[in-house]
Amino acid sequence: MIRLNGKLVADEVRAGLLPRVQKFFAKLGRAPHLAVIIVGDDGASHVYVRNKKLACESIGLQSSIHALPARIKQDDLNKKIIELNLDPDVDAILVQFPLPAHLSADEVLDLVSPHKDADGLTYASLGYFFAGKAVVRPCTPAGVMTILRYYQIPISGRKAVVVGRSNIVGKPMAQLLTDAHATVTLCHSKTANLADYTREADVVVVAAGRPRFLGREDFKKDAVVVDVGIHRDGPDGKLCGDVRFEELEGWVSAATPVPGGVGPMTIATLLENTCLLAEKRARV
Ligand code: NAD
Repeated sequence: MIRLNGKLVADEVRAGLLPRVQKFFAKLGRAPHLAVIIVGDDGASHVYVRNKKLACESIGLQSSIHALPARIKQDDLNKKIIELNLDPDVDAILVQFPLPAHLSADEVLDLVSPHKDADGLTYASLGYFFAGKAVVRPCTPAGVMTILRYYQIPISGRKAVVVGRSNIVGKPMAQLLTDAHATVTLCHSKTANLADYTREADVVVVAAGRPRFLGREDFKKDAVVVDVGIHRDGPDGKLCGDVRFEELEGWVSAATPVPGGVGPMTIATLLENTCLLAEKRARV
């Protein structure tokens, strides 16, 4: 079984971005700039934001963190987004989710300019994406496609199953596999007899958000398995995915581990998206 090493692929993606950042700097006298908005004090969200900042620094991207108080009013959050939309020195914007319960994610997703949408998840961006006109693609599914391409996993003409239909992962994942000429079945929580579908597939992407719920018996021999899930499981709080990775050896042909699979690629794709948006705006 090939262990699909997302960390390795992410390092390659970052290395490929370095000369692009330098070229941008040479032309504009500044690096591409990602602005991150975080609202409230959620510890995990602050860790994610700090990791994104460090990732930006690792390739010389500029980042700014706009930490807003948990009690901020929707109007004031909206004003901040509009201000960043209009700021000529900001190329990409990311709003860290989840937001505190009194704030509307819908309003935020409707407001970030698609020309600066680093995650590719606003409603306008998703419209461009599903119409095949996107500048950037949602980070996690785009990262999965980069891993599959890097390891030269054949997709065209093959049967793919995606488990999960969120706007963040499942639906755009199914679209990207379709664009790569797979025949795709999208499964979800109301799918009857899920294993009837996953056992038929050459490529299975699992994004159900259920710790360790699929194992060897759910996949056909020599399938390729991509595990998007990420959870802290058990008393020791170890990271695990939606798949029981340890059961796959000797059965499937390739699989992503958790950690070290899809996760690092999500951040690498965020950096790539920031560069793409900056280059498009500056015509570099
Ligand atoms: P979500 O909760 O929004 O969606 C889960 C989807 O799984 C739903 O569409 C639901 O219908 C489906 N589902 C739930 N139970 C199912 C079952 N028993 N059988 C079939 N389908 C089922 O979650 P999400 O935001 O799409 O994320 C999915 C997982 O991926 C989570 O574990 C999340 O933490 C992880 N994630 C990881 C990354 C990363 O960078 N590695 C990024 C985003 C999400």
